[in-house]
Amino acid sequence: MENTLLKSTQRNPWTRYGVAVVAPFLALLLRMPLAPFLGNKGLYTFSFIATAASAMYGGFNAGAVTTLISAFLIATFVIPSQKFLVLDDPNDYLTLAMFLGSSATVSYLAGRMVDARKHERAIRLILQQTLLSIGDAVVSTDLNKRVRLMNRAAEQLTGWTQAEAKGKRISDVVHIVAEGTQAPVENPIDLVLATGRIGGLPQHTELISRDGRRIPLDDSGAPVCDENGMMAGAVLVFRDISDRRAAEKRLEAAEIRSRTILESISDSFLQLDRDWRFSYVNPAAEKTLSRTSQQLLGRNCWTEYPDLVGTAIDINCKKAMAGNQPIWFETLDEKRKRWFDIAAYPSQDGLSIYFREITDRKRTEQSLKHLNEDLTQFTYAATHDLREPLRTMSLNAELLQRALDTQLDERKRAYLTNLITGAHRMARLIDGLLQYSGVNDVPEVHARPVDTGNALREVLESLQVTINENNAVVTVHGELPPVAANHVHVTQLFQNLIANALKYSRPGVPPEIRISAQQQDSYLVVAVADNGIGVAAEHQDRIFAPFKRLHGPEISGAGIGLATCKRIVERYQGRLWIESEPGKGSTFYFSLPTATRSSAATASR
Ligand code: ADP
Repeated sequence: MENTLLKSTQRNPWTRYGVAVVAPFLALLLRMPLAPFLGNKGLYTFSFIATAASAMYGGFNAGAVTTLISAFLIATFVIPSQKFLVLDDPNDYLTLAMFLGSSATVSYLAGRMVDARKHERAIRLILQQTLLSIGDAVVSTDLNKRVRLMNRAAEQLTGWTQAEAKGKRISDVVHIVAEGTQAPVENPIDLVLATGRIGGLPQHTELISRDGRRIPLDDSGAPVCDENGMMAGAVLVFRDISDRRAAEKRLEAAEIRSRTILESISDSFLQLDRDWRFSYVNPAAEKTLSRTSQQLLGRNCWTEYPDLVGTAIDINCKKAMAGNQPIWFETLDEKRKRWFDIAAYPSQDGLSIYFREITDRKRTEQSLKHLNEDLTQFTYAATHDLREPLRTMSLNAELLQRALDTQLDERKRAYLTNLITGAHRMARLIDGLLQYSGVNDVPEVHARPVDTGNALREVLESLQVTINENNAVVTVHGELPPVAANHVHVTQLFQNLIANALKYSRPGVPPEIRISAQQQDSYLVVAVADNGIGVAAEHQDRIFAPFKRLHGPEISGAGIGLATCKRIVERYQGRLWIESEPGKGSTFYFSLPTATRSSAATASR
């Protein structure tokens, strides 16, 4: 850039060499009228001046051209000679050579001087351009804090032009106040001139421009020294940081909002840094931990609560931090006999932990579980004990029917038949109840996954007679991957759903049953579709409740099959649902957790 500027400051060569050529003739012409007075004196003076002037104007080369032409003109027209360029006096050669030497030296020195000046001008131009094109506002002052110059950015921000501001006190031109309070603050230039050091204002400041605009400012000042290293003034550099301040303010507001929420929530929240030191504890957490945040901040949590080392809290939190994965768990604080629901979220800064005491909920759950167990036990015992007398009753009624068959009239025979049918129906209900209440007796057994295809084959074999009787076709579509459940439960599901599909077929239409499965996240969704009578939309929820049937005794059943299926899938956090169109068929779906790859390998063995 410097070279380009240097070139741009040089004169046009035509002018330079034009002057170099014209100058010797001019010198000769000027000397001519004086020749009668001067004689041989000052023979070279005019030419010497012309050479110096030409070199000053056009540099060394131009000076050299003038020198040569001057020497030629003097030798030809001024110094007496017999022949062309053969001088009469040999001394004239010497003076001519001296002229050539001194003129060349002068040309050289003048050329150097011109170059140096041009160079200086170019540098000044570069500095000026740099200052003007800097995006930051720049104002420089003298030692009396009066404005010397300012760039375009400074003009735009302050609203002053350089011409207007020149000589004014900087505090009148760059009017800086504290953000918020608007109180006047010391100009960084004051600081720089007082200390001689580079520096800016520590607090958030604003510039009040000439037209009253308030512009958030980032500023710094620096001393300007002369060539002797003495401070000659100062320069103030500042920039508009409106966007940055607005973003910072939004962030501050968001931080205040989330802090206010954390301070007011009833859940406990705390933050640990990556060295397990408390970095934030909300009031609810202070209460749970029985310490104030002043007592905890900066302290290592395992040192403060050594009884937690080795517990689920310790293991899970370390797992979350090491794996950079959030973790949720419930745990019992053995020492204090309190249950907690804990969520730990790792981040760059450490771990954020939310926790909530759930001791009451756990107690309720426990008592509900006991109650449920008692009730199941009772149902099982009651139904089991009911079976025997019922069987005796129905057996005796059948014996009575056979013994008295011929002696009884139509009405009395009907009474006996009703008695026997009722007893059979009651036996089926009791069986259903036993099946329903027995769901929880079978453990889940996740360790050994179930080969779903095998379970289905077993069920189809047991239903083979009914399938044949109904001319039904059962097809399996695609793979049936293994599930993490108990084999008994999986067969119960297929047994109930396929038996229903056979039972609720349309009259005269042979049942077609299609079984398929597809993976959804960590669950396998199995579909059992039929072409039977279907279930109207308004009944679709009801049929899953115990003893809810849509039919009378014309279709046998206790109304407990689907309720049992629902109970089974819910044990595995799965679902059971129906999609159906009356008169066209139904599809029952159930979901069970899929077996992991390692457990699937065990299953196939
Ligand atoms: P059950 O079959 O013993 O009556 P379930 O609990 O198995 O009891 O079924 C409840 C009710 O749901 C049945 O009474 C029947 O009305 C309806 N249902 C079940 N499966 C089907 C099906 N595949 N097609 C049509 N309706 C069905």
